[in-house]
Amino acid sequence: MRALITGITGQDGSYLTELLLGKGYEVHGIVRRSSSLQRPRLDQQYNDSSVYGKQLFLHYSDLTDVTSLRRIVQRVEPTEFYHLAGQSHVGISFEIPESTCELTALGTLRILEILRDQPSPPRFVHASSREIFGTPRSSPQNEDTPLNPNSPYGVAKAFATQMVKIYREAHGLFFCNAICYNHESPRRSENFVTRKISLAAARIKKGLQSELMMGSIDSARDWGFAAEYVEAMWLMLQQERPNDYVIATGHSHTVRDFMRLAFEHVGLDWNQYYRLDPRFARPADPENLLGDATRARQSLGWQPRTTFAELARIMVDHDLKNLSE
Ligand code: NDP
Repeated sequence: MRALITGITGQDGSYLTELLLGKGYEVHGIVRRSSSLQRPRLDQQYNDSSVYGKQLFLHYSDLTDVTSLRRIVQRVEPTEFYHLAGQSHVGISFEIPESTCELTALGTLRILEILRDQPSPPRFVHASSREIFGTPRSSPQNEDTPLNPNSPYGVAKAFATQMVKIYREAHGLFFCNAICYNHESPRRSENFVTRKISLAAARIKKGLQSELMMGSIDSARDWGFAAEYVEAMWLMLQQERPNDYVIATGHSHTVRDFMRLAFEHVGLDWNQYYRLDPRFARPADPENLLGDATRARQSLGWQPRTTFAELARIMVDHDLKNLSE
C-alpha cells in the first residue's frame, strides 16, 4: 500500500494524507518549490518524527517538470496514484487561462503518459470537477451528462477527464475520475467564497473587520465536506473495476444561505455587514449545478454525512478558535 499524491499540500491532499496514513499506507507527496517553506496543512505530520521520513515522504517536482515526475514515479513505484494538483480556482482561471490549461489539462496528460509506461501501472484517480458540465441542460447531473464547460478551468478539467477515460478504455488501465462538486473545510484557501465568509464572520465577531465585500450572493452550489470527498476517491481505487463517479451531496444552497448560517452561528445579522462589490463577479457563472451521486452510493457505499449547516458551523468555529489563539 504505497500512495503517491500530487497536490498533497492542498485542502484535499492534506485530508487524503491523514486518511491514508491512518490506513497504514506509505504516503509520498509531490511538492513544488516556493519562496516560502510554509505548508501549514501538513505541519502536523511533517513535524512528527515518527511519521515524516518513515511513513510520509515529500518529493520536489512540478506538473510542468516531466523528467522529475517520471523519476519520482519510477523510484516510488506507487500502487495507487491520487492526482489532485492543479490551478483550482475557477474565477482566477479567467485571468490565467494559459497556465490553468497547461497545469490542469496537459499536466494530467503528462502523468497519464508516465503511468502508462510503467511495468505495472498504479491505480489512478483524477480529481475532476462539476465545472466540466458548465451550465448543463438537465439537473441533477450524473456521469452521463454531456460536457459543456464555460470557464478555462472547466475546459481544462474536461480535457483531463476525457483523457483519463480514453486511457482507461484504450489501454485497459485502472484509471478513474472523481467528478467532484464543491467541497469545503476549514482548510479551504481564503480566496474561496465559503472560507472568505467563515473568516469574515469570525473576524467581525471579534471586532477585527467591519464589512464583507462579495460578488453575486445568489449563485447556488452543491457543497460538501472535503474530508468525506477524499474517502470517495480512496474507495474508487478499492473496487474490482475502474469507473468515473460523481461525488456530491445532491443539495443546492446559495452563497446567501452560507452567509446567513455563518453569521447566525456567531449571533450576527449578515445583512448589516454584506456589501456588493462587482469586482468579485464572474464573467460566467454556471447554473443548475446539482450532483447525482447515485453510482457512488450504490457501488462505493459512499454518502455525505456532514450537512451544509454543520459545514458552516465547523468552518466558523475553526476560524474563531484560530483568532482566539
Ligand atoms: P487546492 O488549491 O487546495 O490545492 C491545489 C494543490 O495543487 C496544491 O497542493 C498546490 O500546491 C498544487 N499545485 C498547483 N500547481 C501545481 C504545480 N504546477 N505543480 C505541482 N503542484 C501544483 O485544491 P483542492 O485541494 O481544493 O482541490 C484538489 C483538486 O480537486 C484540484 O485539482 C481541484 O481543481 C479539484 N476540485 C476541487 C474542488 C473543491 O471544491 N475543492 C471541486 C472539484 C474539483 P501549492 O500548495 O504549492 O500551491
